[in-house]
Amino acid sequence: MVSKRLQEIPVSGTVNISNMVSQLKVEGVDIISFSMGEPDFSTPENIVDACVESLRGGFTHYTPSAGIPELRCAIADRASSESGIPCSPNNVLVTPTKQAIFMIALAYLDPGDEVILSDPSWVSYEACIRLAGAVPKYVPTRFEDDFIMDPANLAKAITKRTKMIILNTPSNPTGTVLPESTIKAIAELAIENDIYVMSDEIYESIVYDGAKNTSIASLPGMFSRTLTVSGLSKTYAMTGWRVGWMIAPEADILAVNKLQTHSITCCTSFTQPAAVEALRGPQDRRDEMVAEFKKRRNLALDLIAEIKGLECNVPQGAFYLFPRYDVHMRSVELAAYLLKEGHVAVTPGAAFGPSGEGFFRISYATSEDQIIEGFSRIKKCINALKGH
Ligand code: GLU
Repeated sequence: MVSKRLQEIPVSGTVNISNMVSQLKVEGVDIISFSMGEPDFSTPENIVDACVESLRGGFTHYTPSAGIPELRCAIADRASSESGIPCSPNNVLVTPTKQAIFMIALAYLDPGDEVILSDPSWVSYEACIRLAGAVPKYVPTRFEDDFIMDPANLAKAITKRTKMIILNTPSNPTGTVLPESTIKAIAELAIENDIYVMSDEIYESIVYDGAKNTSIASLPGMFSRTLTVSGLSKTYAMTGWRVGWMIAPEADILAVNKLQTHSITCCTSFTQPAAVEALRGPQDRRDEMVAEFKKRRNLALDLIAEIKGLECNVPQGAFYLFPRYDVHMRSVELAAYLLKEGHVAVTPGAAFGPSGEGFFRISYATSEDQIIEGFSRIKKCINALKGH
């Protein structure tokens, strides 16, 4: 029998759908997948070359558990120059981003501690909180407010047991980029109430329409209480590489690194010199990919506007849309229907928290042809459900 802890959490809603899609594809079903948040581009060649070179050069053994010094240095340079986070290499732990989130939950949360997060939120925060024995406290957000958390509602959710606030901007699943004024207000609350912030900024470079991501750790008084996580997966089309990091005060890096020494030991060795190349090498592919995502977002929004029964806000970051639907079905049922009848995979909104019911998530990090075909299938399904 598995532990009670594990029994109480579901399998990841995002990874689950993606596994189902892979299985259906193996069976020869022609599926359009809007499910997994992963760029369809190849990893830029200079990064692949750096990895092959490190493999050929025999860089295939353990590295220091916190990561190779060159990479810690490249990450610190990037975070200070692009995000204004006042950090040095000793403030960096190299680890896959999801591993960082998992370890942070284990490192900071005791049973009964409360963690505040925006509703809807990415699926694995709640699981990590629960696995640590802590309690998730969702602060609902609204479609009408572009899913921006109201700091006044956050303030109401704070109790004596609140240990941490989780921020994710740009957001998965809504694509919302939190305005600087909201982040400042949240920072004030964190300082006033002596609360940690875990800020997941994995989509930090994928922003549109002049939006700018604000790193809460860059605000006065916040570095000492912020655990920032990010990585290469989304920005450089490197999801399979599993390279990310955590940035925090040195004592926190040492604490979480203790868990790393008892779990994965270190991040994969030969990907680390390639990660240095990603951060220090030419950035033109990154910019081109973001420009392409923006075109795809606009195309998908135009196609959604043509479907009666769907409405969507215009998100300024990440590569997700979170349309609201007016069909009388739960989002899990609708996603199952779209997969079975339309052969199109989306993620049900309820997977992201109670406020996600009535929505579904589209990942538009796929080709324009796929987007056009996928929305044509969704349109047919929604029309059929609405009796048109
Ligand atoms: N973060 C991506 C998503 O939400 C990949 C899957 C996962 O890590 O949940 O689709």
